[in-house]
Amino acid sequence: MASKLLVVHFGELSTKGDNKKQFIDCLYRNISHALKEYGPSIKKTYDHIYIHLEDRVDEILSRLKEIPGIQRISLSEEVEKDIDRIKEKCSEILNREKPISWKAKVKRADKKFGTSSMQLAQEIGAYCLSHGAPKVDVHGPQMPLSIEIRIDGAYISYKEYPGAGGYPLGMNGKVLTLLSGGIDSPVAAYLLIRRGLLIECLHFASPPYTSEAVIDKLSDIIELLNVYQAKIKLHVVPFTKLQEAIYEHVAEPYCITVMRRMMLRIAEKAARKFGCAAIATGESVGQVASQTLESMLCINEVTSYPILRPLAVTDKLDIIITAKKIGTYDISIRPYEDCCTIFAPKAPKTKPKSREAAYYESKFDFMSLIDKAVEGIKDIDIIPSESNRLF
Ligand code: ATP
Ligand code: MG
Repeated sequence: MASKLLVVHFGELSTKGDNKKQFIDCLYRNISHALKEYGPSIKKTYDHIYIHLEDRVDEILSRLKEIPGIQRISLSEEVEKDIDRIKEKCSEILNREKPISWKAKVKRADKKFGTSSMQLAQEIGAYCLSHGAPKVDVHGPQMPLSIEIRIDGAYISYKEYPGAGGYPLGMNGKVLTLLSGGIDSPVAAYLLIRRGLLIECLHFASPPYTSEAVIDKLSDIIELLNVYQAKIKLHVVPFTKLQEAIYEHVAEPYCITVMRRMMLRIAEKAARKFGCAAIATGESVGQVASQTLESMLCINEVTSYPILRPLAVTDKLDIIITAKKIGTYDISIRPYEDCCTIFAPKAPKTKPKSREAAYYESKFDFMSLIDKAVEGIKDIDIIPSESNRLF
């Protein structure tokens, strides 16, 4: 019997039926893959996933904390299904961990187990207190001891760690995420992954106006995101010709609107090509001229594809907190030029009209440049370092 045990509690507990089975199977696969090098024995049940291990608890815990779909993880010990062994183990844990206060809570999945939950909790309390355990606090114990009597054994959980939440990765399909070098889009990408969505990234590059160095920046961002989803693909769109044509044929206040309509048209074609069921951006309502509701309406009109905006109503300060938590912030603030900023008009339209945007678009054959841009998309493989690789 392995001495230590990690009990994985599922996120989104309202999930039921077939969905729940798919949730558990997907999470089980992801955990098995992520912990392959540690070789622990992993068991799934309808309520929890159990990971039996001998050592390297801290390393395994820090891996588990990154895996989407896990609500919390409890550190437990397995013990023979015998009242005396259970009491001794509880006492051993309390004397070793020395909490200020504690409380025993018993749950019996095995109803055939002779002693009732209440009676067992009382017996454990009395035994531990007479063997040097600290005081019991039934209302707010520092260490709630959770004793679970299952068919296959007894488990005592004594510490809990928060998980990443969300859905198991790969459960909700694949999304093409528009990734700039800024602060917002990497955070949006992270939130999508946490929701169980696999992502591929699309970047619009306009060399020589934008520098090649942005690719290094994006690679560094993706390498960090690879902690949550390995082997994320980066597709780079050659955008220079289209952008030059926009600035030649479109009145300055409409340049950004038209440019973003072109980006979405390209993104839709690329999403279909890469088998992605939606497009995602790091837009946040009101942040800049192209992100007012009126702008979004005018820009969105060119596609019927679903657009996910995970940050739509998130404040910049909260976005920054998440960017710092996942480590992308320091990379995002490195100076760079984006295709959205290089030709930025002095007074972009904050309430653009579709009719006017369409009028400017009719003055030139933009559609053939769109097709060429899609044909010219280059795939850049980001190879994560071995320690980052999850799947
Ligand atoms: P970010 O911090 O993510 O760059 P932002 O606040 O600077 O966002 P914009 O530059 O208007 O806002 O871009 C809004 C969204 O459009 C970005 O979050 C990203 O999803 C997408 N985007 C902008 N520039 C590019 C680009 N060069 N390549 C791919 N997507 C882009
Ligand atoms: Mg940007």
